[in-house]
Amino acid sequence: MKKPVIAIIGGGFCGTMTAVNLFRQATVPVEIKMINAEYPLANGVAYSAHTLKYLLNVPAENMGAFADKPLDFANWLIENNFYKPEEREILSKTFQPRKLYGLYLKNVWQQALKTKPGYVDVSVINSTAENIDATEDVYTITLNNADAIKADVIVLATGNAAPQQLVVSKKPLDDYKNYFANPWNEACVSDVKHLKNILIIGNGLTMIDTVLGIRENSFSGTIHTISPNGFSLIPHRHVGTKYTLLQSEIENVKNLHQLRRIVYRHIIKVRNFGLSPELVTDALRATTVKIWQQFTNEEKKTFLRELSYQWNVVRHRTPHHIYDYLLKLREEKKFLPYTGKMKNCFEDEDGKIHVIFANKKTGEDQHLIVDRIINCTGPDSKLQQSDNILVRNLATKGFIVADIFNLGIKTGNNNYSIVDAHGKNHPGVFTLGSNLKGKLWESVAVPELRVQAEETSRQILSFINHKQSIAVS
Ligand SMILES: Cc1cc2nc3c(=O)[nH]c(=O)nc-3n(C[C@H](O)[C@H](O)[C@H](O)COP(=O)(O)OP(=O)(O)OC[C@H]3O[C@@H](n4cnc5c(N)ncnc54)[C@H](O)[C@@H]3O)c2cc1C
Repeated sequence: MKKPVIAIIGGGFCGTMTAVNLFRQATVPVEIKMINAEYPLANGVAYSAHTLKYLLNVPAENMGAFADKPLDFANWLIENNFYKPEEREILSKTFQPRKLYGLYLKNVWQQALKTKPGYVDVSVINSTAENIDATEDVYTITLNNADAIKADVIVLATGNAAPQQLVVSKKPLDDYKNYFANPWNEACVSDVKHLKNILIIGNGLTMIDTVLGIRENSFSGTIHTISPNGFSLIPHRHVGTKYTLLQSEIENVKNLHQLRRIVYRHIIKVRNFGLSPELVTDALRATTVKIWQQFTNEEKKTFLRELSYQWNVVRHRTPHHIYDYLLKLREEKKFLPYTGKMKNCFEDEDGKIHVIFANKKTGEDQHLIVDRIINCTGPDSKLQQSDNILVRNLATKGFIVADIFNLGIKTGNNNYSIVDAHGKNHPGVFTLGSNLKGKLWESVAVPELRVQAEETSRQILSFINHKQSIAVS
């Protein structure tokens, strides 16, 4: 019997770890084709950072690539002499460079290749997948070099899209010479020494990376940042402290109203201990996906409308020493975060960008003249506008469709297989990672993604098994 072909589109954490789990779980012959472009295999955008300054936002003790081995990354750091064995305890609470994590993932991949069973074939194709056509359960993937790949199973591990295009008073900023649309491109923090003012749009973790990147490249001018809610990042204050007092109550949560009451009660309790409330959200982490799936769509919408901003602030924290560094820059007036919205802007003939924004704090319009604007607004989840040609093409023809919250791709009720615009389920086409945000809500960081990679592999093998048993009978 011909080996079923599994095409994994995207070789970041999700695609690579799905393949690694297939090596571990497959008991029948399969052929895996990894299609990856733009970023190095196993690393994706997050872990191919060009500098050691960009740090993980999860402590080393919880960054293992396997669901059953959270300490694997910390152990690897010691085994490979980045730290001494006696430093294990303190190391596990630290936020390591993402570049180092990229090395670890490459090692995971290399080791997996060495130990995979002989009946699992794997090849890596360095190309961009541009389209997929389905005919009677066989999928044809068209690549940018005009080659076509036939597959029985497809995994859309396409990862993080670039931020959405910025348009101010109907003018796209893309037209400006000194506007940088993709914050993950090294060019946006390069060649900055001679500049005086840089404006970053966004006040999240990518803004922090960008500040660190331009400062590393000897920028000593003023960094301005703008976002509708201003600077509200918080540091990791209690790394390693576990709050377990709400565990039993959480297990029986039935609805959002009940969850809110429990959470607020425990926040008061935590505060009475002199600790900060993020311990309570951390305690919810292990059950967040389960709780989200129990909510009705109305409750999910209420959460997104009323609580998601606060949730994201608490969930996406920064290492304490980086937070302190930002405060120091702020005191020195080198870092000026604003709360507001851009109203107008234009680039003059010297390449300076003039920005007028409504400053929410002063209630007045403010005028800035900057040498560069960098878009740090975070990945765009709108499928039809994605910078990813495959996602855009599939969404345009209705092969994939957004979930009802517009956070990711619509999938079947009980697994990660996609449902197209006509409501038809494609049981052989799976997705994971940020594409599952609408389904799982917490679907971005490694502690969740390693579980998904394992689960995706299980679902693929179950699908293949089912198909083969039908073919035999
Ligand atoms: C800057 C940044 C920092 C982060 N830091 C952390 C962190 O510290 N800790 C943490 O837990 N999480 C972090 N995250 C979350 C991160 O999303 C995940 O940890 C993980 O890296 C996501 O992996 P992925 O495979 O889904 O996507 P990606 O890493 O985006 O990988 C997708 C890959 O697929 C390729 N690809 C996409 N479409 C195609 C196509 N059509 N054809 C061919 N190839 C294609 C892309 O080029 C890329 O190589 C970070 C995210 C970002 C963006």
